Amino acid sequence: MDRLRFLKIMGLSSLALQMEPLSTLHTLSSSLAPSERMPVLFLGHGSPMNAIEENQFVQGFRKTGKELPTPKAILCISAHWFTKGTKVTAMAHPRTIHDFGGFPQELFEVQYPAPGSPELAAETKSLLSPTPVELDHSWGLDHGAWSVIKHLYPKADIPLIQMSIDYSKPASYHYELARKLASLRHKGILIIGSGNIVHNLRMVDFRNLNKVDYGYDWAAEARTTINGYLQEGNYQPLIDYSKQGKAFELAIPTPDHYLPLIYTLGLQQKGEELSLFNDHLLAGSLSMTSVKIA
Ligand code: ZN
Repeated sequence: MDRLRFLKIMGLSSLALQMEPLSTLHTLSSSLAPSERMPVLFLGHGSPMNAIEENQFVQGFRKTGKELPTPKAILCISAHWFTKGTKVTAMAHPRTIHDFGGFPQELFEVQYPAPGSPELAAETKSLLSPTPVELDHSWGLDHGAWSVIKHLYPKADIPLIQMSIDYSKPASYHYELARKLASLRHKGILIIGSGNIVHNLRMVDFRNLNKVDYGYDWAAEARTTINGYLQEGNYQPLIDYSKQGKAFELAIPTPDHYLPLIYTLGLQQKGEELSLFNDHLLAGSLSMTSVKIA
């Protein structure tokens, strides 16, 4: 029996035949099977140089990676894909995007050839319905994803997709949107928000770029207050971050690096513990604080 006839007998439409190779169809039913509940992460990614440097933060990512059950695929919400509307990468082989300038050539040569997962992209779109989600074929993996995930999975053998952040929507919207993705955690999917909680690039002390535990008073205040809310499970002030006064305003001058944290929090389920790692200020106006929920 030829392939076309076989697939027709299986009741698949001609549209599906045009869109999906046979190898992909074979995996559809099995790869999103139920699993134990996967943890959720927020990773403070910091400088793109973390992709190639050795430091305590990279060691923290590596250690966390080793403690996780092996995921079937990863969904990353990166600060660096900030769009009108929500998109998910749906290509089988996402390219490595070097979305920065002024760094050494060595960093531009890094490739992270993890496969995509058109299947997970379709599942994500379906879970978020009726919110429109565009299946994207032009983005890829930006450094918010690959510069940190490469330390968790250096072999690049776990399928990886990205979901964009709709810049036209408030934090409360993103918190609710994240909740709709919770069932993916029971299908072996590791969801990672990647940004930075305290992130004021204009005020970075470039003479002390690698100085750890060094933060301006407002950065220290924002870190302490936010960590307190995280540890109490009191997320409303974090969702209402723009009404929390001067320290928050300086720590979160734009929402792009902060909103990935809101996705991570939205995915927490009853009885789950939140823990912090890489919890240090850096260069005056940044924090590397990262979160694991399990
Ligand atoms: Zn960034």
